[in-house]
Amino acid sequence: TCDAGTVVAAVRAAAAAAAEHKTELTRLDREIGDGDHGENLARGFTAVVAKLDASAPETPAAVLKLVATTLISTVGGASGPLYGTAFLRAATAIGDASELDGALVVTGLTAARDGVVARGKAEPGDKTMVDALTPAVQAAAAAADSGGDAAAVLSAAADAAAEGAEATTPLQARKGRASYLGERSIGHRDPGATSASLLLRAMADAAA
Ligand code: ADP
Ligand code: MG
Ligand code: MG
Repeated sequence: TCDAGTVVAAVRAAAAAAAEHKTELTRLDREIGDGDHGENLARGFTAVVAKLDASAPETPAAVLKLVATTLISTVGGASGPLYGTAFLRAATAIGDASELDGALVVTGLTAARDGVVARGKAEPGDKTMVDALTPAVQAAAAAADSGGDAAAVLSAAADAAAEGAEATTPLQARKGRASYLGERSIGHRDPGATSASLLLRAMADAAA
């Protein structure tokens, strides 16, 4: 079952992944951005863990909402409002369900991706986190259609996000700081697509 406690565990795992990959994410952002993506995310998720230590949200949506408000107020940069919007839209979309099945995970992931697109106006191929989230949503839907539970759906999403992140390397950035580099953004993996895939992998493993 994927209840509030499972979602808390998944978020804690995401926080651990943000800390573990901080240097790598910052190194990617140094290539085509301002070299702060790892620090931004690690700072935000450290604050999320502190909030979770102090309170126990009672529904999956309440957990995701806590993540959203905390990331919005602590991450900064482009990715803070985008990740904040993603978690907030997911929370709203899943409503007051006490447990998530595969279909609800698809609902949440779809809303998260749509929120990022609405906020940041990036299309697939623009070399942003949307390039990880869009294949993740598609793979999640396919996994749910074939009967996958919440963990299986998240795992399929994470696999697709990793491929999507990898596939940003040859792209030229059209959104965010990396777009200022023009053609010089080609040949580097996008930091935000990479973090999106790492966060999804961590959450999927924790939910399994
Ligand atoms: P900043 O660029 O403000 O320093 P971060 O380094 O934390 O913020 O995050 C950079 C990441 O944010 C990029 O790698 C990209 O994936 C993502 N990003 C930037 N702008 C957009 C956008 N308009 N839509 C979607 N994702 C974006
Ligand atoms: Mg940056
Ligand atoms: Mg910055």
